[in-house]
Amino acid sequence: MARMALVTGGSRGIGAAISKALLAEGYKVAATYAGNDEKAAAFTADTGIQTYKWDVADYAASAAGIAQVEGDLGPIDVVVANAGITRDAAFHKMTPQMWQEVIATNLTGVFNTIHPVWPGMRDRGFGRVIVISSINGQKGQAGQVNYAATKAGDLGIIRSLAQEGARKNITANAICPGYIGTEMVRAIPEDVLNTKILPQIPAGRLGEPEEIARCVVFLAADNAGFINGSTISANGAQFFA
Ligand code: NDP
Repeated sequence: MARMALVTGGSRGIGAAISKALLAEGYKVAATYAGNDEKAAAFTADTGIQTYKWDVADYAASAAGIAQVEGDLGPIDVVVANAGITRDAAFHKMTPQMWQEVIATNLTGVFNTIHPVWPGMRDRGFGRVIVISSINGQKGQAGQVNYAATKAGDLGIIRSLAQEGARKNITANAICPGYIGTEMVRAIPEDVLNTKILPQIPAGRLGEPEEIARCVVFLAADNAGFINGSTISANGAQFFA
């Protein structure tokens, strides 16, 4: 029977590429989003993938949403915690609100996404947990103290979960994308992108969302069970961790 995958933030950007790649591999897929109804509706019309709206920062909403997804499509075998935001500023200009929003979505949101599916994975003796971290969680980044803290936190989460889940055939791994050409990165001013970011990427280009989706498909596979607690860097040779 087809495995079932949940992708948070799966309606656009990297998440959309992940949802589509898993569908193409034969998975049943549910994609979530936060508020962009128009993009989500277009994505469903385009792909046939069902979308669900909830805020990953809200535990009760996440648990209820996940229960609804499982009621509609069956138990979740693969969970991809992909939803994330940036609120960039130099540290001396970073407000407590900018800190809180990023922690709530990117770090607490990962807990809220994995925690409700974890008991079912343990009961069934199978699970694939994949967290989309970032190169900036590995190396740090000026202007992203909040974001880098959450993305480094992701690595602590998967390394700990890997040890807890291994006996139950549950793996937990992270992918650290470099700069990928999504709306998140296109929001960076073009001169900053051209003068500060692209020159640091030996590949000389931004990555494609499909190049991250490729890593997810690899880690999600039934025969990837011995790859556990690891991090795949996909960054065009920008940084080696
Ligand atoms: P986008 O901004 O293009 O898409 C973000 C997705 O997450 C959207 O579907 C959005 O929903 C959803 N989302 C945002 N906040 C919430 C929330 N509170 N609850 C539920 N869903 C939410 O992001 P990217 O595709 O660029 O990034 C995806 C992931 O990859 C993020 O975790 C990001 O940090 C990480 N990453 C991205 C890199 C890049 O270069 N782009 C590099 C390294 C890591 P909606 O459409 O409703 O807004």
